[in-house]
Amino acid sequence: MIRLRVSDLKQYIYCPRVVFYNYVMPVEKVTTFKMEYGKIAEDKIDKLEGRRKLKKYGISTGVKEFHKQLYSKNLGLSGKVDLLIKTADAYYPVDFKYTTSKPHKNHLYQLLGYAIILEDIFNFPVDRGFIYLIPQEDAVVFDLTDDLKTYTKNLLEEIRNMVSSQQLPPPVESKNKCLDCEFLNFCGDVF
Ligand code: SF4
Repeated sequence: MIRLRVSDLKQYIYCPRVVFYNYVMPVEKVTTFKMEYGKIAEDKIDKLEGRRKLKKYGISTGVKEFHKQLYSKNLGLSGKVDLLIKTADAYYPVDFKYTTSKPHKNHLYQLLGYAIILEDIFNFPVDRGFIYLIPQEDAVVFDLTDDLKTYTKNLLEEIRNMVSSQQLPPPVESKNKCLDCEFLNFCGDVF
């Protein structure tokens, strides 16, 4: 089984070609300003988050674990979640984002990736997750339904099929995404 990362799910939803380039045709990427700044801000938020109350997430009591490395052998999927909140009856993944806009669909699939790993290895329900928006200092909650988790598992197979077949997928429909893409130089057919 081809071992995948949670970030592959996020990128595949953004544009399948990004994952294709990473696995089939590794190329030198350009580090964008957004990526660099996001990383710096995440380092800062870790320190702040250590003192923050769980009330921000609508949770009364629980334990916080930062930068938790996760791996499911059954799913062939790994990832490092920014924050894992553990309560007596559920686990909640939290991902920090530096964005002034609302979370996107690809962020949801990142949470779903963590959720299916957590459920597989800990056998604990993971039905909600959060995207923490750094600029707004706000936690946005997402319902991680069974249907979405099944769809996410199917996506893993879709990605593996793409990698095995080595077929370049079509470019993303929304060309606005390409403007911020680290692989723009390699997609000669988008503009
Ligand atoms: S430039 Fe556009 S089509 Fe090419 S990988 Fe990036 S987002 Fe996808």
